[in-house]
Formats: sequence, structure tokens, C-alpha cells
Amino acid sequence: MVYPPKSSRAKNGSVAAGKVWLVGAGPGNADLLTIRALRAIENADLILFDQLVSDEIRALFPKQVPHFYVGKVKGQHSIEQQDLNALLVKKARAGLNVCRVKGGDPFVFGRGGEELLALLAAGVDAEVVPGITAASGCTTNAGIPLTHRGLAQGCTLVTAQGEKEAALNWQALASLNHTLVFYMGVSRAQWIAESLINAGLDTNTPAAVIENGCRHNQRVLVSDIANLPALIQLEAVTSPALIVVGQVVSLAATLHVPAAGFVETCQRLSA
Ligand code: SAH
Repeated sequence: MVYPPKSSRAKNGSVAAGKVWLVGAGPGNADLLTIRALRAIENADLILFDQLVSDEIRALFPKQVPHFYVGKVKGQHSIEQQDLNALLVKKARAGLNVCRVKGGDPFVFGRGGEELLALLAAGVDAEVVPGITAASGCTTNAGIPLTHRGLAQGCTLVTAQGEKEAALNWQALASLNHTLVFYMGVSRAQWIAESLINAGLDTNTPAAVIENGCRHNQRVLVSDIANLPALIQLEAVTSPALIVVGQVVSLAATLHVPAAGFVETCQRLSA
């Protein structure tokens, strides 16, 4: 495997083109970074990172390498997507190895696909480094298998912040018998629960919220779909948090085994 070389000068003295690495940093713990992600970070000339990249991972950025926050907090963009794409192109053309670090996996609700399209369209050398997406890392870490024989034959990842809410087919979601994982849903828990129940989902269906999954301050709150929104409000759950709905959530009580040396809070509450 070839890892990114430091930016270099071509033999004729002109600046050789750089490369952009779209790196998935996983859900939070530094030891859930892939080796490829860490190598890309260590070999970067410039690091541009998102809000979801945890402090623990930021601490691994080499001190001498400039790094800038280019994330998006809901309703508050530090830099517009188009400007960011243009910046990536400009820096790569200037000969830098740019490491664009994103939470989870770059291609799961992370606009990594859009960034890669823009880079390839501009003729910039680019590569994507897969990361553990929140749905996978956070549920497993919370003792909730995404699939489990007899309980869930599949899982469906959904954004609660879609451009067109109407595009969500609640009837289909409610009848799939899949584990449903909602990203960006904590402020819309009431809407999610009502929509699923109105579409026929049993009100007793187990449901959980995982706040700061795979981080030292992880909280896992377990309830059922009817009561989850009240629990989220009562416990003042904040982003980043995932909502997980399905029979597999009931396994958390047995399967949640905190990793060795990993301090975390796990609350199982019934509202
Ligand atoms: N690309 C990311 C997702 C970006 S969308 C990935 O693959 O995971 C941002 C949403 O992801 C958050 O609002 C939250 O719903 C979820 N998320 C990301 N990291 C999380 C974490 N550590 N704990 C809980 N939810 C998380």
C-alpha cells in the first residue's frame, strides 16, 4: 500500500501537485481510527477537520502541521461547501497533501461524495479513507447489534435532516422490521416517533438514544419509541446523538460491556 508522500518539488523545480485525502475518523475514540487514517494524518501538510472529529483525535494532529476547523454546526456554517471544495482544489494544486478529516465515514451523511466529485472534476488527485460510521461504532459499543438472528434481518440508516422531509417513506420504515438508525435526529425525536407510530410501528418497540457514542462521555438511554422523545428531553440529550429503533435495542441490557479501561456512563431508563 502506498501512503501519501510529503509534498515535493519536481526535478525541474516546479511544485508537484498534491493530493487530497478524505479521511473518515470514526465515531470518536482515537483507537477506533484506522491505521490508514492515522498515516494520512501524520503525513499531511495541511489538515482541515469537522466538528465531529473528537478532541482525542485532534490531539493526534502533528503539532507542526497547520490545522483548521471547517465544520458545520447546525445552522452555523464556518465555510460554505462550495468554498471548501475550491479551497481543497487550490491547496492540492499548490502541492500540498491535504487531509480532510471527517467524523465517522466520509460517505455516510458526510458530504464526502460531493467533495470527491468536485475534486475529481477539477482533476485533483484524491483518495477516500473509510471510517467506522456512527451507526456501526456507537451501536456495537452500546451493546446493540445492528442485526441479530430472529430480531432484525437488516438495518436502515436515515437522516432526520433530509432536504425534503416528505421524501421519507414512514410506512416503509415502519414495516421493514429492520433496525432503524436516525442520524441528526435528536432535535426531531418527537417527529420521528410520531411519524413511525402513525405509520403503524408498535408503540412498545424498543428505542434508544446514544449520545457521544464511543467517547469517554457516552450515554446510552433505553426506552420505547413512544417514550423516547420525553426521555431525550428529560435527560437533555445533545448532539452528537443517534436514535436507534428496533427489537435489537432490548439486547443492550445484556450485551453492553464497556471496553476495558473505557470510562463511560450507561443509563438504562424507562420513561
Ligand atoms: N459521517 C458521519 C455522520 C455525519 S452526520 C458518520 O459516518 O458517522 C452527523 C450525525 O452523526 C450526528 O448528528 C449524529 O447523529 C451522528 N453521530 C456522529 N458521531 C456520533 C457519535 N460519536 N455519537 C452519536 N452520534 C454520532
